[in-house]
Amino acid sequence: MPKKIQYQELAKILPDDDILQQCMHCGLCLAVCPTYDLTKLERSSPRGRIRMVRSVARGEMELSPLFADEMNFCLDCQACETACPAGVKYGQIIEAARVVVDKANYGSKVGLPIKRFALRNIVASKNALKFVSKLLWIYQKTGLQKLIRSSGLLKLFPNNLSEIEKLSPVISDKFSDTQIKEIELPEGEVKYKTAFHFGCLMNTMFADINIDTIDVLKECGCKVITPKDQVCCGSLMGHNGDMDFALKLARKNIDAFEKQDYDFLISNSAGCGAFMKDYAHLLKDDPVYAEKAKIFSSKVKDITEFLAEQKPEFNFNLEPETAHVTYHDACHLIHAQKVSEQPRQVIKSLPGVNYTELEEASWCCGSAGIYNVVRYEDSIKMLERKMKNIKNTNADVVITGNPGCMGQIKYGTQKFNVDVEVIHPVTFIKRKLKSKI
Ligand code: SF4
Ligand code: SF4
Repeated sequence: MPKKIQYQELAKILPDDDILQQCMHCGLCLAVCPTYDLTKLERSSPRGRIRMVRSVARGEMELSPLFADEMNFCLDCQACETACPAGVKYGQIIEAARVVVDKANYGSKVGLPIKRFALRNIVASKNALKFVSKLLWIYQKTGLQKLIRSSGLLKLFPNNLSEIEKLSPVISDKFSDTQIKEIELPEGEVKYKTAFHFGCLMNTMFADINIDTIDVLKECGCKVITPKDQVCCGSLMGHNGDMDFALKLARKNIDAFEKQDYDFLISNSAGCGAFMKDYAHLLKDDPVYAEKAKIFSSKVKDITEFLAEQKPEFNFNLEPETAHVTYHDACHLIHAQKVSEQPRQVIKSLPGVNYTELEEASWCCGSAGIYNVVRYEDSIKMLERKMKNIKNTNADVVITGNPGCMGQIKYGTQKFNVDVEVIHPVTFIKRKLKSKI
């Protein structure tokens, strides 16, 4: 691909040069960067990547496979943003760089079209995702999965396919959108007007968490509106270089929720919540949607953020069953949304909780969207570190607010033989009121 076109394209897509120049090369972000920790190479650090992006944008360095690899090696965990004293918006820089890397397509000529097709036509399409999930459900429930696993057939395929297959989440027996009514009301007085985003993968693979979210909200006196015409938030597409398509989804969600009367838009998936909070920035230059996006994003709340900040009175008796618990910070909750104290407050406030803080709780577990699938080996090194820390707490339950982290840590329990249950905060709360519902 001609170099000049790439430079111009990159310059158009990237944040302004003055944003890239905000990095003062202090290096304070290096200590929190999992990829720098693995390689000790400057180019695999946030500071190194920012320098590379700036050099390519200015035409001082060629866009190359090495550049592409470094941009994709980054987890987009945004731990560097939290650590940065200069307030460098690293997430915006890496996501823009990935759009360019995606266009350059240095990898396999079929890999990118397959990834794009799957994200656009399966993940983002409610019906297609439900159809594929049903097929997976049949594969998992009929014994076919057990047969294929025990046959060793998958080991014949390259790229750790047999291990990656184990990462696939268990498909829910019933999808959540068929169980949640468009308007759900609490038993007593309505104290809060909320809306709920049920997600794409959450709907078919974590339907129970969606149902638990609705139940807990209702028990707190919330009216919950779940518009049927909502769509996938677009985060997987946005983080994987397909921002144009991600923004189409953002506009559809804004249209779907704009018609409703609500004060808080509840998300139970850290990745979705972070991306929806970012619609305001991503659509800031859209003449039609800029203002609407600002209003939409201002209402988005993670479920634990809502519970900790609003302190609703629970309309149920909590079961004081004892549990030794620890908490893993999902990157898109702690770094992208700056939500870390709220889930801890909620968990610790529940009766019977014996809480132990997790060492390096905010260190990425290696899930990072589809990173554990496309860069399995790197992701496993991060997971091993996470599992060691979890084991050291001696906790029986690890709580985390992102489905990707849940799937990754559950896989880690088997791979590294750690006996711990992995659950979502809202499921942990729901368990306390199980006897009532
Ligand atoms: S986003 Fe995470 S992996 Fe990427 S540079 Fe920042 S700290 Fe490192
Ligand atoms: S902490 Fe911020 S300013 Fe310092 S090197 Fe990292 S990105 Fe640049």
